[in-house]
Amino acid sequence: MNCIRCGNGRARARRLCKPCYWVICQAGELDRWPRVRKQSSQIIENVRWLAENNTPVVEWPKRLKMTPAALERMLYRAGLHDLAGPVSRLRGREDR
Ligand SMILES: [Zn+2]
Repeated sequence: MNCIRCGNGRARARRLCKPCYWVICQAGELDRWPRVRKQSSQIIENVRWLAENNTPVVEWPKRLKMTPAALERMLYRAGLHDLAGPVSRLRGREDR
C-alpha cells in the first residue's frame, strides 16, 4: 500500500511514508491523519477464545496468522501478561 499523502512512498505508520510522516510530525499535524489500528482488540478476543478452549499455545500464532514474537508483543502491550507469558515461553523453545 502506498502513502495516502504523496501516493509514492511505502505506507507505514498512519498510512504515511517515512518522509511524509516526518514532515507532518514536524508540523505537529499528526492528529489530522488517522491512526491505523491493527484491530488488537479483535486479536485479543480470539486469543481469549483459544485459551478458554484449551487450544495449545503453539497453535495460537498460526491461528491468528501472526508470528509468536508479534503476538507476544501485542499481548504485553495490552497488559495481558497471563496470556503473553505462555507465548514467550513458546518463542524460547521454537527459535527459528
Ligand atoms: Zn508520502
